[in-house]
Amino acid sequence: MKRSTEEYQRKAAWISVALLRWFRTAARPMAWRETRDPYRIWVSEIMLQQTRVETVAPYYDRFLLKFPDMRSLAAAPIDVVLKAWEGLGYYSRARNLHRAAGILVSCHGAKVPRTVEELEALPGIGRSTAGAIAAIAFGADVPILDSNARRVVARLFAVEGDPRSSAVENVLWGQSARLVRKGKGRDTALAVMDLGAVVCLPNAPRCRECPLRSRCSSRLRGLQDSIPPKRAKKAIPHHDVVAAVFRRADGALFLMRRLSDGLLGGLWAFPSGRRDPGETLEDALRRSLREKLRVRAVIQREVGAVRHAYSHYRITLHGFLCRTTGGDLPAGGGTGWLPGHGEGMLALPRADRKLVELIHREEER
Ligand code: SF4
Repeated sequence: MKRSTEEYQRKAAWISVALLRWFRTAARPMAWRETRDPYRIWVSEIMLQQTRVETVAPYYDRFLLKFPDMRSLAAAPIDVVLKAWEGLGYYSRARNLHRAAGILVSCHGAKVPRTVEELEALPGIGRSTAGAIAAIAFGADVPILDSNARRVVARLFAVEGDPRSSAVENVLWGQSARLVRKGKGRDTALAVMDLGAVVCLPNAPRCRECPLRSRCSSRLRGLQDSIPPKRAKKAIPHHDVVAAVFRRADGALFLMRRLSDGLLGGLWAFPSGRRDPGETLEDALRRSLREKLRVRAVIQREVGAVRHAYSHYRITLHGFLCRTTGGDLPAGGGTGWLPGHGEGMLALPRADRKLVELIHREEER
């Protein structure tokens, strides 16, 4: 047992030297790597959760123009924060970022904490994001285990099994920690991320170009295509969703705020509902309006349909122009009017934004 641990340590030491040597010439340029401002690094790491670097880049710049520091973020209304996040998806990240900024301004002098433990205590920050922030912003010698690191480490040490099971994950954390040399936490974290992003790719690892190929256990045993095991692809469900378009004389459109703890939480959307099996679109809409708004409405005509794929399902959103015939549309609270030109501070889900654009195009014809 002792010998095997020493072997692992020798191997990890060799790998970390080779990895850092490779990183010195292969590091990917990114705006958030040009700063040591912990606030900016924190924002970037939250945006990078489940989102690609190329997608994040323009959002990162715009977000920091609007909220250049922790205090400006904490002081902003949540609608303004969600608007800046609109289109980036996984909106709980924006809500948690905003909540965390409020906590840090109140209790931590508006400073990003330095330790993994303190970072993990904030909303929206798990162990790997905490490690990445601590390592990149403060140079802490701590491991990370984001999706790239998970794959790279599993392959380097030929760790078989589901990397998301807690037993395998524990092993991966241990191996990831072995790669961190004293004083090299920042570069190690970034190097592992980059190797996973450009060389040790999920489906076709480029082992011939890899600086670690001579010590990679998966490559040496021909297991690089089966570690980590491929997950069976789940069928992505499709739903027909009906939306009521209430339009004022000045062109403003009636919207409702989605519950803050649900999917697309806190965003503004047309009153809508999912069509049940066997229901017509019109019946589904009348039912939804009764249930959600307690109004009766005449459906005047369909204004169009838009399709959108979210991460776990796809929808076709059918928009119907409506007029109330019994009861008034609720005012205030979780309802609002999107001005006719469609801008303003309200953040909409992508499908609803597409429907707004469709309505405006129709008006212009
Ligand atoms: S040798 Fe291949 S499988 Fe191993 S770390 Fe490099 S790219 Fe990944």
